[in-house]
Amino acid sequence: MTDCLFCRMVAGEIPADVVHETDRTLAFRDINPQAPTHVLVVPKEHHPTVAALAHADPDLLGAVVRAASAVAVQEGLATEDGVEPGYRVVTNTGPAAGQTVLHLHLHVLGGRDLRWPPG
Ligand code: 5GP
Ligand code: ZN
Repeated sequence: MTDCLFCRMVAGEIPADVVHETDRTLAFRDINPQAPTHVLVVPKEHHPTVAALAHADPDLLGAVVRAASAVAVQEGLATEDGVEPGYRVVTNTGPAAGQTVLHLHLHVLGGRDLRWPPG
């Protein structure tokens, strides 16, 4: 989709600070970080929401979640087999949740204590 920001970043048309890549996923730093680590993990294929992807291609959703986990380990937010110090994975769906880019992305947030409930 040529009018989709994240499709254009996957295509290399818009620069991205890439921290992790697989054949089906790309992870890059958020331009407006909300924590010391704030990485967006996307499928290279366009799917608008996590629900849409879960229905269309659950294997790809699994690949996106695995990529988020690999980013967390790479960023020192967890170990391969542990959860310390910890991190948060968020995906906003729709306007009430603040989704601004309609290409599924997992936010991986960490590097500080994260409050609950979120705003
Ligand atoms: P959403 O609000 O849809 O959950 O998240 C979209 C995210 O994309 C926001 O956190 C925003 O800062 C980030 N973002 C918007 N434009 C760009 C951009 O051009 N480059 C990068 N790296 N992140 C962007
Ligand atoms: Zn897209």
